[in-house]
Amino acid sequence: MKLAGKVAIVTGGASGIGEETARRFAKQGARAVVIADVQDELGREVASKSVYVHCDVTQEDQVKSLVHSTVAAFGQLDVMFSNAGIATGPAQTVLGLDLEAMDRVLAVNVRGTAACVKHAARAMVEGRVRGGSIVCTASVAGSTGGRGMVDYYLSKHAVVGLVRSASVQLGEHGIRVNCVSPYVVATPMALRGFGGEKDAEWVESTVGVNMSLKGVALRAGHVADAVVFLASAESELVTGLDLVVDGGYKGH
Ligand code: NAD
Repeated sequence: MKLAGKVAIVTGGASGIGEETARRFAKQGARAVVIADVQDELGREVASKSVYVHCDVTQEDQVKSLVHSTVAAFGQLDVMFSNAGIATGPAQTVLGLDLEAMDRVLAVNVRGTAACVKHAARAMVEGRVRGGSIVCTASVAGSTGGRGMVDYYLSKHAVVGLVRSASVQLGEHGIRVNCVSPYVVATPMALRGFGGEKDAEWVESTVGVNMSLKGVALRAGHVADAVVFLASAESELVTGLDLVVDGGYKGH
């Protein structure tokens, strides 16, 4: 029970990596897991044994109230998994960049993540929480470049920068800040990114060939395990880390 007694928030917890991580937090003994998302029906389903809160992370007042209501209900906040994110598609190249679409990506991936880090850290400082852990979802796109989705790559580089600075600034309060950086996992977001016509099997067999580790598909559970590690005392002195979970993709 790596998270026994902990109170955690998971943004983007209604689907994909967030959903799987919320389930593992509960399995690891978390006292409360608050799932925050904008997909209310899905979120409530995932949260059958935990709590669901509607929260659009681009709205600072909603993030603030998510954190406040969690502390009011459960007494403290130990873990913030800031994971909500959106992607664009291959058409978002430098030459064809749609700046309005870029603003939407930055609003969720950068502004939303910054709001979650800010309000979680404030609650942890005010509550004098011991061993507070903030984990953000970046991506291999946070340390590489790509052919399309320039706005997504830009946003994930920003998440890594935020995590590194926050880890320096919050260390004196005993708060650790890290990010997890997955390669392609066949979640609804990734499937939409491939045009919505491909299935998980296609993604895993096609994109998976770029991983140096063969024979095992990268799944949300692999990422969730890394998040549990970063959220728990097993990583007590780990902060400012970009933990890449990519099956060896970046080695190429
Ligand atoms: P997903 O679409 O399955 O889940 C993302 C969740 O975020 C959804 O439930 C969605 O409703 C929620 N969300 C979107 N906008 C929101 C907002 N404004 N406020 C609150 N919630 C919002 O996708 P996923 O792949 O599980 O994505 C989770 C994170 O992982 C994202 O940050 C994504 O960029 C990152 N990531 C995904 C991959 C991949 O290949 N799937 C790779 C690297 C990083």
